[in-house]
Amino acid sequence: MHKIMKKVLLMAAVLCLSLMSAFPALALGAVTEIVDDTDYVNSGPGAEQAPEEEPAQAQEVSLGMFTVTGYCGCDRCSSGNNLTYSGTVPTPNHTISADLTHYPIGTKLRIGDVVYTVEDKGSSVKGNVVDIFYASHEEALAKGTYKAEVFLVQK
Ligand SMILES: [Zn+2]
Repeated sequence: MHKIMKKVLLMAAVLCLSLMSAFPALALGAVTEIVDDTDYVNSGPGAEQAPEEEPAQAQEVSLGMFTVTGYCGCDRCSSGNNLTYSGTVPTPNHTISADLTHYPIGTKLRIGDVVYTVEDKGSSVKGNVVDIFYASHEEALAKGTYKAEVFLVQK
């Protein structure tokens, strides 16, 4: 029984070989197919891919020199508004007021070591003027008005 099986297999193999030598195009076709398969695997979803570039570090662009002023949540500074123009709770070292036509809500601006987020606007905050939120009126006054280079932080 086994012997017969072997014979059959052997015959099939011989037949296959003779077919391939009789029709070289057939053999070539088979080889091409294998190559195509390899290509497919290499470009498929499971294929190894060149590692993607590290997400770029935050890029900064200098916006030039600004007049930097300070404000707080008091009636004099904020006319009794408890929230920023964008509806957030103003936070020191975070909230900054800017000219929204140039720097819309959510824009990140770095001044010195602090990256602020534009969340507010002000009637006197136009063009190259930014207004930093401080926790108290005293601090806002103490920091005063000064000139500083402002950087736009891009994601
Ligand atoms: Zn104030």
